[in-house]
Amino acid sequence: MDTDKLEYFRNLLQHEIAELSIGQGKAITEMIVEAERLPDEIDHASRQLDRNFELRIRERERNLIAKVEEALLRINNGTYGICDDCGEDISEKRLIARPVTTFCINCKTKQEQAEKRGIARGPATRSNLKGSFQYRQGSVAEFDHAD
Ligand SMILES: [Zn+2]
Repeated sequence: MDTDKLEYFRNLLQHEIAELSIGQGKAITEMIVEAERLPDEIDHASRQLDRNFELRIRERERNLIAKVEEALLRINNGTYGICDDCGEDISEKRLIARPVTTFCINCKTKQEQAEKRGIARGPATRSNLKGSFQYRQGSVAEFDHAD
């Protein structure tokens, strides 16, 4: 990938980190405000539920920040845009849609098909459902909102 394109993706990723960091700060502030405003007698369970939800969102944001930071490292060490699996170049179209991706569309498709087969196999046990949930979280963390 040439320098101009790498710079383009570097800017894109740095912008993403800045946005996510703002989100993290806001989430913490809102949580504090919320905790101070709520009277003691409000249903503790529902408050706990909100907090867990908030924590999950923040954890997802932190995971995404980590992924974006890894992508920036790959730009620095010259491996950005190269598929982790087959070593081929990842298409620019795919990188623009998902700047943190580490797999080309062919390898990603194969992985998704394998995942689907894995989930479809056997009864819907607790651990199967958990795996499916974690997989979906992973997808979201890959700028997958548009899909
Ligand atoms: Zn590949």
